Amino acid sequence: MSWREPPTGGLGDASRYPSLSELARSLGELRDRGATLSTIGTSVEHRPILAVTVGPPTRDVTLVLAGLHPLEWIGVAVALALSRALAEPGAARRRIVIIPLVNPDGYARVEADQRARRRALARTNARGVDLNRNFPTSFEPRRARPLLGPLGWGHGTRARSEPEVDAVCALTDTLERGGARLSRALSLHSAGRKVLYPYGGRLAAPVDAAAHRRAARRLARAFDDGYSIDQSSRWVPGAFAPGMEIDHLHDRHGALALLVECRGGRPASPRDLLDPFRLFNPPDPSPVVQRLVPALTDFVNGAPC
Ligand SMILES: [Zn+2]
Repeated sequence: MSWREPPTGGLGDASRYPSLSELARSLGELRDRGATLSTIGTSVEHRPILAVTVGPPTRDVTLVLAGLHPLEWIGVAVALALSRALAEPGAARRRIVIIPLVNPDGYARVEADQRARRRALARTNARGVDLNRNFPTSFEPRRARPLLGPLGWGHGTRARSEPEVDAVCALTDTLERGGARLSRALSLHSAGRKVLYPYGGRLAAPVDAAAHRRAARRLARAFDDGYSIDQSSRWVPGAFAPGMEIDHLHDRHGALALLVECRGGRPASPRDLLDPFRLFNPPDPSPVVQRLVPALTDFVNGAPC
């Protein structure tokens, strides 16, 4: 397992977060606690995409994703802490598969930016595709147009065109073919205080919207930090998210699928508004991790909602 660390130098605003190689080491250590670590695919730049599996081999499975978007390091930190908590003996009550970093190339790019003190927006994989627009459900093709900046992020030329998304979809399809039922899914993003449920790609609500709302509300209340819930496509009126992960995990596998926006940084000064890393991530991940992990543990363990 090698994630090829970017050039050395302090991590700047990200100094309290793990670098790519520290993250790889921490995930490796989970093996000693009984977790299974597997490589489910490789990124555009040939970095491994790792999955941590914990818990008894139940038919019901929970999938956890984090790090689809490069700047959202707080989601990766929460996923790592959740993996550690669930690797404790008896903590996982069902089979739980966690992919703490779906987009390692993006993480490496942000790490290099931090070491070079560059304030840069980063939203895509190594070839300009927003991975959370590349899943099959409601997919709409769009090529990356880098000259348009944030408006030019691609969706990919076809669903699953990106190896990172293909690895996730292949894993869930394989689980299902093996008799598993992917009944819960969780994707960790930032920034905001929102728990979102499907759909993002269409205005219609899923048939089991009531169960999604109950589960989302339960999480929002447990976070106790001003969290609210929304159907993804109704959060920002008119802003649809075709090809997003929770839509796909719900439609293809029937999972009760939630997206948690782990809260970002609070701008301490107007200058911070120009610093993408600070906007997406609190300076210290610990308070967010401590607040979110217990509630997320209940959800991924299949607690009734
Ligand atoms: Zn995101």
